[in-house]
Amino acid sequence: MLVGKTGICNVFFGHCNLQCIYCQNFQISDNAIPCSMREPAEVVEEILGFMDENGVRALGFVSPSHVIPQMTGIIEAIRLVGKDYTVVMNTNAYDKKETIESLEGFVDVYLPDFKYADSDLALEYSGVRDYPVAGVRALREMFRQKGAGLHLRPDGTARSGLIIRHLVLPGHVENSKNCLRIIAEELSPSVHISLMSQYHPTPRVEGHARLGRTVSEEEFLEVVEELHRLGFRHGWIQEMGSDRLYLPDFRRENPFG
Ligand code: SF4
Repeated sequence: MLVGKTGICNVFFGHCNLQCIYCQNFQISDNAIPCSMREPAEVVEEILGFMDENGVRALGFVSPSHVIPQMTGIIEAIRLVGKDYTVVMNTNAYDKKETIESLEGFVDVYLPDFKYADSDLALEYSGVRDYPVAGVRALREMFRQKGAGLHLRPDGTARSGLIIRHLVLPGHVENSKNCLRIIAEELSPSVHISLMSQYHPTPRVEGHARLGRTVSEEEFLEVVEELHRLGFRHGWIQEMGSDRLYLPDFRRENPFG
C-alpha cells in the first residue's frame, strides 16, 4: 500500500524521543550514541537523487518526533522543486497534539504506532507514564485531519490517510487488546490497522522475563480475534514468522537486506 512496485524512500533519524528497552532500531535510536550530523541541503539532494533514479513516489520519515522542523524543512525543499511525493510520517505517537496540528498540509499519510494502553507498562518499557493519554490525543488529531478513509493513487498506492500500527509484545496480550479497544472507542473501528507479529528480542533484552522471546501464535491469534470482535475491517495482519524478516542491522549497507 505504501511501497507499491517501486518502493519507498525512508529517512531514518538518529535518536528518539522514547527509549524503549526492546527497540528494534536501537543501533540508531539510542540517545547515548553520537549522531552524525547532515546538512539539510545535502539530505534533500540525496533524497531527490534516490527517488528520481529509482522512480520512487513515496517518501517516509521514521521516528521524526524530535526533529520536526528538520523534517518539515526537507518536505518544503522537496515541494519547492515541484515534486509531488506521498509523504509518510512513521511516528511512535508520543507527539503533542499541537505538533500534529502544525503538520496539517505537510504529511499525507500518518503511520503512527500505538504502543501502550497501560501507563505502568509505558513507564517500565519506554520511560514515559503519560504515553496512553498523549498517544490518544495525537491519534485523535491525525484522525481529525485524515478521517478513516485511505485515498489511493491510480496505481493503488496510498495518497493520503491514517494507518495505525500496533506491535504485539510477548506476554502482553491484554495491553494489545486494550490498545485496539481504545482506538475503536476514541477514533473508530473503521480506521486502518496494521497489526504486527514481527517483534524480535534484541541483545538488550536477552533473558528478559517477558521480552526475551518472540510472540507466540496463540498470543497473536488472541489479539487478532479481538481485532475482529471490535469490528475492525480495514488493514493488515502480519503473518507469523515475520520476526525473522524485519529486524534491521544498521551496520550493513542494506539494513533490511
Ligand atoms: S519509539 Fe520506536 S524507534 Fe523510538 S525507541 Fe521506541 S521502538 Fe525505538
